[in-house]
Amino acid sequence: MALIIDDSCINCDMCEPECPNEAISMGEEIYEIDPARCTECVGHYDKPTCISVCPIDCISKDPQHSESEDELLIKYATLTGKL
Ligand code: SF4
Ligand code: SF4
Repeated sequence: MALIIDDSCINCDMCEPECPNEAISMGEEIYEIDPARCTECVGHYDKPTCISVCPIDCISKDPQHSESEDELLIKYATLTGKL
């Protein structure tokens, strides 16, 4: 399941450089996560690193982009070229 940033984001810039998949970028008003690139950090870390660094807990799972662990691993392999 990809993650989503809610509109309480304060644009603190903490999460964007930490994402191993370059899934986070500045949107029109706040930072946004590209669901096509977010693996929940599967393949890289034990837990989503953006959630770990966000000071106001405004990142959560996006029910609109539900994916299994296996699907996230396939996404990771596709993005990185690793299996
Ligand atoms: Fe990037 Fe991981 Fe956050 Fe997804 S969960 S946006 S891959 S840091
Ligand atoms: Fe927004 Fe949290 Fe990212 Fe900071 S770490 S830019 S508050 S989502």
